[in-house]
Amino acid sequence: MAKDKKLVLSGDCSGCGICVTVCPTNTKLSKAEDFDINTAKLAIGVNNGTAFVDYEACIACGLCARNCPVGTLEMVPV
Ligand code: SF4
Ligand code: SF4
Repeated sequence: MAKDKKLVLSGDCSGCGICVTVCPTNTKLSKAEDFDINTAKLAIGVNNGTAFVDYEACIACGLCARNCPVGTLEMVPV
């Protein structure tokens, strides 16, 4: 399925990690027996206090954007 929206980061990220925990792709990965948060191909993660997106893993569902407490994440048309 083609993605018609893309997740972008705009503004300051507090590094709270809420986006990481609500992401369904990450949740699915975390159920694997050999799951390791440091090596898993997370759709969204936090590194050095800032969120990053892996566009290969992200399914553009928008859940993280709806749950970011500071409005850093946004879904934009592609
Ligand atoms: S838009 Fe991407 S990173 Fe955000 S919750 Fe959905 S799959 Fe995860
Ligand atoms: S993008 Fe939003 S929810 Fe994710 S770590 Fe940054 S502030 Fe928290």
